[in-house]
Amino acid sequence: MSLIIPLCSSSSGNSTFVGGENAGVLIDAGCSFKKLRLLLDSCGISLGAVKAVLITHEHTDHVKGLFQLTKHTDITVYASSETLRNLINNNQVSHTASLCELSALSSVPVDYKISAFGTPHDADGSVGFTLEKDDYKIAFCTDLGIITHEVRQNMLGADFVFIESNYQPELLQRNPNYPPYLKRRITSDTGHLSNHDCARFLTELIDNGAARFILGHLSRENNTPALAYGSALMCLSEHGAVHNRDYTLEIAPAETEGRVIAV
Ligand SMILES: [Zn+2]
Ligand SMILES: [Zn+2]
Repeated sequence: MSLIIPLCSSSSGNSTFVGGENAGVLIDAGCSFKKLRLLLDSCGISLGAVKAVLITHEHTDHVKGLFQLTKHTDITVYASSETLRNLINNNQVSHTASLCELSALSSVPVDYKISAFGTPHDADGSVGFTLEKDDYKIAFCTDLGIITHEVRQNMLGADFVFIESNYQPELLQRNPNYPPYLKRRITSDTGHLSNHDCARFLTELIDNGAARFILGHLSRENNTPALAYGSALMCLSEHGAVHNRDYTLEIAPAETEGRVIAV
């Protein structure tokens, strides 16, 4: 059995625990170390159960707690060589941190086969992850502008999918707090995935065996859980898939209230 716990998920902080009760990994560490411990604790997971932290890329909303985490624990950080270089240059990891490149993912002491794949985002070497155990595949992917061939190749066939549904285009375009350059950045091929683009990809995923979806990394300003949820539901139902028969759909909360998903 695997536990999947979205600890925090939004444009201001992202971290998810995947694994068993006693051994698992954190994907990203995007809230303070103190908060991370509290959130893990509220879900019944001790820090000692975290055997590695896998980093998708070095943007603050994914690594805010990483410096303190690597200062106070000996948990190994796994990331692409580009991300590791940036983490070091930006002082986002402690000088005592144990760092490993993605080619060493097989050394993570958990009983999953963990793989990484490249994502189109404005951070060099950004990645998503898949974790496989007992013929069950979990795919995790946030911060991507478009669905590339590489993303498809790695995510199609997954049973469980955690994917970004970042923004509703009309809300973004109307948002007076976002300057034009930022709007262009978000909607670009190396920005973020819109609700509609995410929903369309869900239909491909379901055709290839996926049955459980979590939508995450929702923009706090340019999206709402209802819009992301509604968009996915509509696209999947137009595709002929029946909610709660063919698939389940959830929105990752901005901060966990203790929900642990067991698969
Ligand atoms: Zn990012
Ligand atoms: Zn992000």
